[in-house]
Amino acid sequence: MNTLLILGAGTAGTMAANLLRTKLGDDWSITIVDRDNEHHYQPGYLFVPFWMPEGRVVKERDAFLPDGVDFVQRDIARVHPDQRWVELADGQRLDYDWLVIASGSRPRPDLVPGMADGSLWRDKVHEFYTLEGSVALRDALADFHEGRLLVHFADQPIKCPVAPLEFTFLVEDKYRKAGLRHDVDITYVTPLDGAFTKPVASETLGDLLRQRSIRLAADFAVERIDNDTQHLVSWDGRELPFDLLVSIPPHTGAQFVMDSGLGDDLGFVPVDKHTLQAVDHERIFVLGDASDIPTSKAGSVAHFAAELFVDNFLAAVAGEPMPRSFDGHANCFVESGRNQALLLDFNYDTQPLTGTFPAAGVGPMRLLEPTRINHLGKLAFEQVYWRLLLPGKRLPVPANMSMAGKNEP
Ligand SMILES: Cc1cc2nc3c(=O)[nH]c(=O)nc-3n(C[C@H](O)[C@H](O)[C@H](O)COP(=O)(O)OP(=O)(O)OC[C@H]3O[C@@H](n4cnc5c(N)ncnc54)[C@H](O)[C@@H]3O)c2cc1C
Repeated sequence: MNTLLILGAGTAGTMAANLLRTKLGDDWSITIVDRDNEHHYQPGYLFVPFWMPEGRVVKERDAFLPDGVDFVQRDIARVHPDQRWVELADGQRLDYDWLVIASGSRPRPDLVPGMADGSLWRDKVHEFYTLEGSVALRDALADFHEGRLLVHFADQPIKCPVAPLEFTFLVEDKYRKAGLRHDVDITYVTPLDGAFTKPVASETLGDLLRQRSIRLAADFAVERIDNDTQHLVSWDGRELPFDLLVSIPPHTGAQFVMDSGLGDDLGFVPVDKHTLQAVDHERIFVLGDASDIPTSKAGSVAHFAAELFVDNFLAAVAGEPMPRSFDGHANCFVESGRNQALLLDFNYDTQPLTGTFPAAGVGPMRLLEPTRINHLGKLAFEQVYWRLLLPGKRLPVPANMSMAGKNEP
């Protein structure tokens, strides 16, 4: 009997379990480990402060795992890659022949002085990257009718790097609709030199911020949050006053990855970015946010990568060369308020460009342009996630990015 162990039953781990159970025969046992039985639809955290009921975000994990996969509900403590076993927090030992690490990334408010340890935490200082945080922010917004609102992210990488911008556009729209826009001063604060990392998207999104009279504070490397004076302070001495601060903290990989010596400085596992095999351990593959691949940490990336990973994994266990090469394909909707959204489609080598998607000319979606159909696509993603992504079903979008419909800059 061969043993496959999957660490983490979130987006990537659940997809991997579903995809591999159909491909691996009865001579394979598959076990997946997670600390609890609550699967969160994390993109929903963006909407909870505005309209989505919090209960809609959570479903039971085991309902999305296939028959023939053992679910172990425990905290993972450490991986022993040389002896090929995993230690759980209660001391239990799980041996493996092949390991998939899918333990994601986690927001670390403890890494910004004055954030989680400050007196204003969950009062005037908020985040929306956890369910608890987005519920607290919903309540704070309900009481916030005037003043200076800062939306900030501390550093890259974070999950869904466009989500802070989306929140900014949605909150602007909320106050505009309420007739309070002139009473709420909104600033988007970023460590980047513009609204986004790549030039074409940065220009489009920067224009949108200007059109909505949202200030942009760029190149802002946060040093601390001053709770006494209510200022966000940067290393170069800038101090931005706030009445409400929404700040997305830096992210790291899982603690057990760090404790096992498998991660880089931030606890992300170095992998071959095309095969997703761990650089130093040929029996370990890494899916989803847990790896160091240089693309967005997003469910869409996890999905595209998982499709290619299956063929590579089957080849690797058969001792054959891996046939597929992942290009870093990411596909992200960006809510822009007014019931519209933009769509970004890019990979390791091609920045987000304008054009149509998925078909050349006809779309029906438009890249880097706010449209209603893109917004409907974002809303439909919730059902696509539960019904197609997690079960590992194919989407009508190629795993590697296509240039069809894209305008060359
Ligand atoms: C606000 C927000 C908006 C987003 N919007 C989008 C979007 O629009 N589109 C998109 O594609 N993506 C979006 N994402 C990103 C997407 O949710 C993540 O990239 C995706 O969930 C990553 O999947 P994963 O499997 O790598 O990690 P996760 O789904 O986070 O799963 C990791 C699992 O590992 C488990 N785990 C970790 N450590 C341990 C341990 N020690 N013991 C036991 N279990 C452990 C965790 O409990 C968790 O279940 C968004 C994320 C956020 C926060």
